[in-house]
Amino acid sequence: MEYMEYIHFNSQMEYMHIIKDFAYSLLSKCTSYIDQKLNSKGDYDETYCIDLLCMINEVLQQPDVQNLHTNPGFEVDLKLHILGEAAHAFQRRHEEFVKENDPHMRLGKLKPHYFAIFRDLYQEKDAHQIQAKDFCEMCLHPAIVNYVNNRLGVEIVDNFHNSEQSIDFGSRSFFQFTILKDLLNEWDFDQYVEYITTYEKFVKSWIWKRMVDYYTKNEDLKNLEENIFSAILDKIRKTLEKLRHQGAATISEFVQDFSQEMQKELVIPKDSLVGTYMKQAFDPGHFFAFVESFLPNLQEQILSRFKDLDIKSKLSKLPVRPQDEIFKQMFGCGKQCPFCYAPCEAGGSTHREHFATIHRPQGFGRFRYTDSEKLVCSLCSTDVSTNQMFRNRDTNYQWHPYKEYRTYYPDWRIQPDPSIKASDYWKYILKMFSDDFARQYKAKPANLPEDSGNIIKEEALQAVKDRYKL
Ligand SMILES: [Zn+2]
Ligand SMILES: [Zn+2]
Repeated sequence: MEYMEYIHFNSQMEYMHIIKDFAYSLLSKCTSYIDQKLNSKGDYDETYCIDLLCMINEVLQQPDVQNLHTNPGFEVDLKLHILGEAAHAFQRRHEEFVKENDPHMRLGKLKPHYFAIFRDLYQEKDAHQIQAKDFCEMCLHPAIVNYVNNRLGVEIVDNFHNSEQSIDFGSRSFFQFTILKDLLNEWDFDQYVEYITTYEKFVKSWIWKRMVDYYTKNEDLKNLEENIFSAILDKIRKTLEKLRHQGAATISEFVQDFSQEMQKELVIPKDSLVGTYMKQAFDPGHFFAFVESFLPNLQEQILSRFKDLDIKSKLSKLPVRPQDEIFKQMFGCGKQCPFCYAPCEAGGSTHREHFATIHRPQGFGRFRYTDSEKLVCSLCSTDVSTNQMFRNRDTNYQWHPYKEYRTYYPDWRIQPDPSIKASDYWKYILKMFSDDFARQYKAKPANLPEDSGNIIKEEALQAVKDRYKL
């Protein structure tokens, strides 16, 4: 009875590890949501916590998480922990927001501004000059900064895809290949563990590193900012020219018209203009000449403000976060093979069957032999066409034939793989990190088949390349 010898299963202790990895990755997903809300600079909104709860519930409802058979107590603990962390963070943000918007504090901040108005009036400066300066500093400046930030996220995604990086991010297969190549070059065991066990978190930080590296090495980001900036400045000039002939009677009326004209691009903070001259006589031609003369200075101020920010804080503060957009395009559904943890590469988010090009020795999915506790070297894509059996928590620890894996994993299609060479990469990794993985997974090192002893680094990578037909 051949199949009785070939028995794999996940122990209770391994189950705890899987739960820990799951909780860890859910936590990092929620933390990233919280960070995003904190960066938006608005006040706390009660929808944030509802969103978080929905996010957690959605993850808990996923079939593979359901298969973990966690109990309600665990779910409550998880939610309490995450919302507890969120509550502290949101409370701090709310206090900061109240401080920033306290009328007394705001008036205090305006003190130098009122003084400047008084001084200008006393020195009998041209009222139009003061108005124009205020308009540039109080209205245009913040509106342009917001506009550039809003556009930048979108344009970075385009730029990244059109750069030399585009090959690596061109398709899911190439993306997987690039990650595997990178891992091989860096040769860090912990990175492999993170890639295998907390795949989503790994991919997020990998994309982030690539983006920061790329934009640190070249001037693309600066060029993008300058292009967005000069386009909007152009539009502002054209709008001023148009309004010159409409003849607004007061500056308030002009600001109203201007906001209307530019409403697609700019959100003008209209009530930030203060002073006694709001209702004074207004000569558009005179006023526009001053605004025109202030624009180059404004441009310099804003661009130098962008220059002072380092790449990391710049990228993480954008309303459209390019790293998240690229992640969405590359990550796919994020499901991993139940036997070897290879990630699904199927296109679109609504595919019915998960699919991976290259499966791995199942030891990477924490499978070990019952008696010897050695990690399993055989591939799931081989075992699905044999008479061998497995058992784990999903089968309720009852033996089940690999051939009928779809009884438990109906949404996975694991193609029987006749070319064993395709997985040489992973055999090589299992060979080189044999003891490390045994320690990490609390098992015994795998008994590697004789042929895997001869695989060298170059062959490992070539096997992946061949399989993806690159
Ligand atoms: Zn697999
Ligand atoms: Zn999938």
